[in-house]
Amino acid sequence: MLRVSAWGTSDRGLARTHNEDCFEIDVEQRLYLVADGMGGHRHGEVASRLAVDTIRGFLGRVAGGDATMPSLPEPRLGRQANLLKMALRLAHDEVMRAIRADPRLAGMGTTVVALSLDGSTASVAHVGDSRAYRVRGGALQLLTQDHTWVNEQVTAGFLSHDQARIHPLKNVVTRALGGESRLEVDVLEVEVEPGDLYLLCSDGLTTMLSDDEIERYARDDGSPQQISRALVEAANRRGGLDNVTVVALRTEGEEPQPNP
Ligand code: CA
Repeated sequence: MLRVSAWGTSDRGLARTHNEDCFEIDVEQRLYLVADGMGGHRHGEVASRLAVDTIRGFLGRVAGGDATMPSLPEPRLGRQANLLKMALRLAHDEVMRAIRADPRLAGMGTTVVALSLDGSTASVAHVGDSRAYRVRGGALQLLTQDHTWVNEQVTAGFLSHDQARIHPLKNVVTRALGGESRLEVDVLEVEVEPGDLYLLCSDGLTTMLSDDEIERYARDDGSPQQISRALVEAANRRGGLDNVTVVALRTEGEEPQPNP
């Protein structure tokens, strides 16, 4: 089994009064999560924590044999990717349920990006504008497509990536857990190699730093702890206009097998 080292750093930033991001690293389940909550009166914190806890809890119950997959899986995806997708849908249902139970929570929602490692396959699922990147051979690659209005404009050729990053409407997400419409979750599976570095981050990082700048920090030989901290500090030096969260994980070759 591939060895994995991981570290998460989350910071309020310099402009916000509280931190509505949250992250989770579940070493046993090899599950890594970042969520970026939204909603007034600190309700974003409620939404992001509820989503992360629901995803982790569901996958933990399945692993423990206490839950099964409640709907037919997508045949193009493996079991773990299907489970992860289902977990994000359940998290959406939980956020909606919380809003119905307490109308003061109306309007709360959250993004989420999740990576689940099963053998040498990483399943990556996301909703909203929290991102997953992979750094391999020193090159940064974005694995997710933001569910945002500006990204739709980039895809259509109306905005460049750099224009999108500083656009006044850059924060408008078109999908979120807790949003009104039926939830579409994007999932992909990637084969992991020893030496890969994966970054999960909230938009507080990616609106402050360009991909080239993120790559410069991430291709260092530093530990996941050093890299996640350096990225968060860099976002704050740039202005820290938003909460910023980075989970970094590196795969490090096979774990030694015990002698028979
Ligand atoms: Ca944010």
